[in-house]
Amino acid sequence: MVKTTFTFQELKRTNHHEIKEMQDKKFRAFIRYQVWPNHPYYRRLFKENNIDPFNLTCIEDWAKYKIPLVRKKEYKDHLREFVLNPTQVDGSERPPAEIARNLMTYAQESGKSALYRFIRNNGIRVKTRIGGSAAMERLKEKMTYQYAPLQFWLSSGRASGLPTPVFLTRYDYELLSMNCTKAGQIAVDSWVSQGWEMVSMNLFPHAPHLGWHATNVGLGQISKFYVASSAGGAIPSDKLVEMAGIFKVNGFAGMPSYLRNRFFKTMADTKYEAPDKVVVYLAGEKIYDTVADDIVNILQEKGAKEVRIIGGYASSESKVSFAAQCARHGPYHNVSPLMLAFELVKFNDDGTYDFVEDDESGYMTLFHLDSTGTVFEGFLLGDVASHQERGRCPVCGLDGPFFWDIGRTNDTEMQMEVMGLSEKKIKGATVNLTALRADLLALSDIEELQIEVAKEDMNDPYSMDILNIYVAPKSSAIGNHSALISEVMKVTKRSTEVTPSVKILTFEQLLEKAGGMKFMEILDIRPKPA
Ligand SMILES: [Zn+2]
Repeated sequence: MVKTTFTFQELKRTNHHEIKEMQDKKFRAFIRYQVWPNHPYYRRLFKENNIDPFNLTCIEDWAKYKIPLVRKKEYKDHLREFVLNPTQVDGSERPPAEIARNLMTYAQESGKSALYRFIRNNGIRVKTRIGGSAAMERLKEKMTYQYAPLQFWLSSGRASGLPTPVFLTRYDYELLSMNCTKAGQIAVDSWVSQGWEMVSMNLFPHAPHLGWHATNVGLGQISKFYVASSAGGAIPSDKLVEMAGIFKVNGFAGMPSYLRNRFFKTMADTKYEAPDKVVVYLAGEKIYDTVADDIVNILQEKGAKEVRIIGGYASSESKVSFAAQCARHGPYHNVSPLMLAFELVKFNDDGTYDFVEDDESGYMTLFHLDSTGTVFEGFLLGDVASHQERGRCPVCGLDGPFFWDIGRTNDTEMQMEVMGLSEKKIKGATVNLTALRADLLALSDIEELQIEVAKEDMNDPYSMDILNIYVAPKSSAIGNHSALISEVMKVTKRSTEVTPSVKILTFEQLLEKAGGMKFMEILDIRPKPA
């Protein structure tokens, strides 16, 4: 029996053989009856490569049939084509009866028996005209629920103007709401079984990004009480720490650099009493040991006896689910293997790719096995994991797919190769600095400029990222620098969410600073963590 997703308890009971079997069954149903009829991009990709989607029996067949992987750049250039659209096929309108029939077949094949019965029963009423118009309304409503985009969050790599959106439907939100609890449950499972209850606090930045929203939906379900705050917004850090104290928060979620450099630093300087057991859930950036140690130390100084630090892994494109660590040095478990599969691939010299063996590192590649709105198959996320295993976790005993040591490829050349574009992570947000440079050069008063990524404290590789912009104004603009500075700040903030420090130089000074003949347009001088 194929399920839509596992609860955490079911996940604990199911072994990796059963999971793999269900994954492939869901993959087949999804590709044949959801992606092939309704996804304009993959329909075209299959046709261009002479792929019969009914030949794809398991995820590994993606490599067997040499189906091209999708790079971020490709997605950015074809945003609309990645959204499931059942109303059209190859450029023509699709009759409503066929739309309903496709979804009914998909529901049947993917084990969604309630949805299957709903469409069948209402379809019969429409056909036999017994209560037909009401049945028709119900079907229409269901289609809207399933397919109409409700909201988006922004993915990385803005070319110009708005960053790339990933669209979610109401159905996606339902899936998200089932899955995001598990990323939290895995962190505190051993405590919960002893009667521990969580009072949680959301310290992700509130923005159209996955982090805050997923945390909000998840913590709202698994907490005894939930402080739905946010980082870097309306409430200053000292007030947030005060709130944490008042409500006796024992579960914090946020980005590592913000938590270490703002929230917990403030806590260290404040009169604050930590609960006995505290869990800190980190995501959005690579987690360095120093950062985690600093957070643990502060909490212990404030009286915590046991601190668990857990990392989560997701991307805007993974949309409705995540991977989460079971312990600080444990692997990342895919908590919803029936919704999506994370697979690692390697590239061969002839340009082809393969799925890696259990002991090999590879590039993280995403396959959706469910969901509507924007859907990805064989999508290269640009992260590298040391290896993926299927089996019993040596740390927590969960038996399923899990991977180790996830990190973002930061090397520009490698990024171009893997994703088709180069990005830098700054304060947890992924920023395309090449595009920022183009946006800034379009300002009429600027002759030349250099973008520099640095650290607030250059002696502390774990301190907050900052952005310095060195600007040489055109000679006509000399004397009116304050307007130019605020314009540069505005454009930068708009396209990167970071407020830069802007310094005005003469053209000669800038040339000298940026390396003269070999002009460095973008410079990353952040000290590397040890
Ligand atoms: Zn584990």
